[in-house]
Amino acid sequence: MNKLYHTVVIGGGCLGAACAFSVQRRLGNNRHKVAIIEKKVLGAGLSSRHSAIVRSANASPMATRMAKMATQYWKNLKPLWGVNIPYEQPGAIWIAENTPDSRAESWTALEHMLQQEGIGFAMLAHRDVMDLSRQALKTVPDEIYYYEPDVLQLDSPQILNAMQTAAKKNRIDVLEHCEVIDFAHAEQGISAINTSQGKIFAEHVINAAGAWSAELFAGIGLSIPVALEPVYAANFLVSVDDIPEGMPIIADYVNQAYFRRWRGSILHMHQPRSRNAKDIARSFSRAVMNPEGANVIYDALSFNVTHQQLDNYLGKVINRFPKIGKPVYAGGYHSFFDITPDLKFILGPDTQLTNLYHCLGAGQALKYAPIFGEIIADLIIEGNVTAKSIDIAEFSIDRFSNNDISQYWQSNALKKNSL
Ligand SMILES: Cc1cc2nc3c(=O)[nH]c(=O)nc-3n(C[C@H](O)[C@H](O)[C@H](O)COP(=O)(O)OP(=O)(O)OC[C@H]3O[C@@H](n4cnc5c(N)ncnc54)[C@H](O)[C@@H]3O)c2cc1C
Repeated sequence: MNKLYHTVVIGGGCLGAACAFSVQRRLGNNRHKVAIIEKKVLGAGLSSRHSAIVRSANASPMATRMAKMATQYWKNLKPLWGVNIPYEQPGAIWIAENTPDSRAESWTALEHMLQQEGIGFAMLAHRDVMDLSRQALKTVPDEIYYYEPDVLQLDSPQILNAMQTAAKKNRIDVLEHCEVIDFAHAEQGISAINTSQGKIFAEHVINAAGAWSAELFAGIGLSIPVALEPVYAANFLVSVDDIPEGMPIIADYVNQAYFRRWRGSILHMHQPRSRNAKDIARSFSRAVMNPEGANVIYDALSFNVTHQQLDNYLGKVINRFPKIGKPVYAGGYHSFFDITPDLKFILGPDTQLTNLYHCLGAGQALKYAPIFGEIIADLIIEGNVTAKSIDIAEFSIDRFSNNDISQYWQSNALKKNSL
């Protein structure tokens, strides 16, 4: 099989799919075609193991701005992808410590920044938290609470289903069970993609291979700093009376847990990405000891859980929702945050290979998928980002070019990037 495409996207996760839909839409119905190369099936990677929450709060004003635009896109996806995806808008309650040595000040600064960006994000009184959670949540005096009303909740299987439908509607060539093995590259660009199904040629190549990117591009001398941070996600069966339907998503930075009501009777939870510099350093050091690389995601063992992990999570549930007693475990799995050294995404053109573009999410990408797709399509079709308010310079891969990535988790840059 020797094929020539206008654009080839490597990786059929939510980001790869979004890029493919946006580029193909701009190309219209002409003979130029876009392909997605996916070594498993569409959405099999991290895109099948997330919580499907779309929120805007982010420590980077530019990321916040992009998330706000993405939220609008998610609400009306049809003009972009050709399909709509159902969503709910439960909002989110953020919980933080309010002790002298905590970072309460940084939450106040975040509140100001978000409000300047037009994001609803305001402090809540304890009484309001109780009302919003219909008395399900425990509040304590040493905590502060914020409410972000525009947070959306989608459903992961519905997103995967929509990706399949949109691929057909947009006439994308989806090459599943097709693995990119390596590249032929000329002086300035990728000239051919060698896959398990033969050679493929493309004018433009988008790297949306997420956590696999580091290994995939190492062979041609590109250093893409992405590591895996394991995280356990668990479901518990709860009564509608214990945790009311429509309860806001709880982003609990005191217990280090996200909670959300799901499909009527389930309380879904997992820990957030670690913002601790030492943990990030450890994740990057573990990469060397992981012979499976990112393929650990596809190992059947990643659906196992130890009693210790379960007990840890049960403690968090009981601590935050004391009225529900001991919840009933209803299954769980390991997932992985695909983190970068400064926890920011890698977005934009490669600095060495002119026809290569990176679109990687840094452990928080689902929410950005539609806007990232539009940005990458802008770069490929128009040569620059068309929205005047968006500047992607801070997300360029160029920031890692001096090879000393440890400076990122040692520096203040990380502390500022707290969400
Ligand atoms: C527990 C958890 C909860 C989360 N919740 C949220 C949330 O609520 N909201 C949010 O916005 N984000 C969330 N995230 C983050 C989100 O899941 C990821 O950022 C997102 O799914 C990444 O998508 P992706 O397309 O970049 O990567 P992936 O979905 O991993 O896609 C990469 C694809 O590339 C393919 N691939 C790799 N190598 C090759 C190759 N050589 N050839 C061909 N194909 C290849 C893989 O098979 C894979 O399908 C969460 C993450 C975790 C761990």
